[in-house]
Amino acid sequence: IAVAIVLAILTALLLPHVVAIGQDTTVESSSDQLVARANYILVPLRLGGEVFLRLLKMLVVPLVIVSVMSGILGLGDVRKLGKPGLAAVSYYLVTTILAVFVGIILVNLMNPGGQAIDEATKAELVNSEASVKEKVYSAVAEHSGTTDDNVASIFGDDEYTERKNPRISRVLENLILMMFTDNLVRSAANMELLPLIFFSIFFAGLLTTLGSRVDLIVNFIQQMNDALMSFILLIMRFAPLGIFCLVAARFGQANVHGEFFDELRKTGSYSLTVLTGLAVHAFITLPAILYFFTHRNPYKFMFQMSQALLTAFSTGSSSATLPVTMESAVDEGNISKKSVDFVLPLGATINMDGTALYEAVAAIFIAQVVGADLTLSQQLIVAVTATLAAIGAAGIPEAGLVTMVIVLTAVGLPIEYMSLILSVDWLLDRFRTTVNVFGDACGAAVVEKTFPPEELIADSV
Ligand code: ASP
Repeated sequence: IAVAIVLAILTALLLPHVVAIGQDTTVESSSDQLVARANYILVPLRLGGEVFLRLLKMLVVPLVIVSVMSGILGLGDVRKLGKPGLAAVSYYLVTTILAVFVGIILVNLMNPGGQAIDEATKAELVNSEASVKEKVYSAVAEHSGTTDDNVASIFGDDEYTERKNPRISRVLENLILMMFTDNLVRSAANMELLPLIFFSIFFAGLLTTLGSRVDLIVNFIQQMNDALMSFILLIMRFAPLGIFCLVAARFGQANVHGEFFDELRKTGSYSLTVLTGLAVHAFITLPAILYFFTHRNPYKFMFQMSQALLTAFSTGSSSATLPVTMESAVDEGNISKKSVDFVLPLGATINMDGTALYEAVAAIFIAQVVGADLTLSQQLIVAVTATLAAIGAAGIPEAGLVTMVIVLTAVGLPIEYMSLILSVDWLLDRFRTTVNVFGDACGAAVVEKTFPPEELIADSV
């Protein structure tokens, strides 16, 4: 997979040169022609990538339901979920908050919004609030194969059509309501995993109290769980090809449109701050926590999880990566299936360290650009809302952009300035998604160590 990614990036870098062969590049209209010629290569790549992505996503809903249920059935009694459940949620919260603080400290030290952008670029980039939201929702919608109105409603911005800000109180309300659904089928269709997880916990918990009357259902769930894991293994055989297509198509498109290096340069110090923060979290904070609780070699663990991490980078979606994360955690990471089964689906949905860090950096970066001096208490509000925004973000590409509106409005920053960070978001998204997935995997390892499944089973017997 790593080789596939390197080859894909090389392909993307060479693409403009390859399609330019035999073209007179001095002619004005030739750039349109180049794009058209590049499409002969990009279209099949995009198609291949999309097929792979759909294969993965296809498994997510059944996998979440079945694995969470069999995780609970493995515990023997849903009341036994208390301790490991609490451990998982505490781990998620603590690591997310740590990530936010790394981000806040770095963005204050590096001050990327202080010098980076001149007035002309600023004026060129900044659009009206309404059009920014439209761009944000459309960017997310494009990746997720839905419409911008749908994205707005998934994120509870019911007022989107009226072009207004979502209010904080409403956001909190939505975070709670996100756990409960009035329609399981619709939630499954929209890949809203949180209500499915809650349903599965309650349903499987109930099953454990019904005794031999429900043996058929219990066996079915456990056999389905095994069968789905084999299915994932089968799909992963095509991973190198699928990932090559995904990365080459997206990076190639950016490069042909001159967006790749230009955008990175324009937003250079902001991107650098986000990437540095993510690196600190992935290579220092998380390894330290993992080592503290499990005494595992964290970098070896990172290597064992590399299939999942590279898939996260290629898809930009922790939900779509979930099948691979679960498979790698069990087969390579040697984490017991019992721990993986309910920790990882929950983690992929609510634990997003990379996203939280990025939200904090981006918000304070925007404050620096507009010259708003955030007080300490305002920075604390950023920390709290960035944490909530990350919990609320769906595991789909660039979802963090949408929930960032919460952070900005909480401290009264203009959301128009999000245009400044829109153009590189597709790229930064991949890095933060990778960190999100690594955080989830570390969580499974930590929970397994603090509450070994054997102990739980022995308890329940
Ligand atoms: N793409 C991220 C994920 O799926 C979420 C985000 O930060 O946009 O984990």
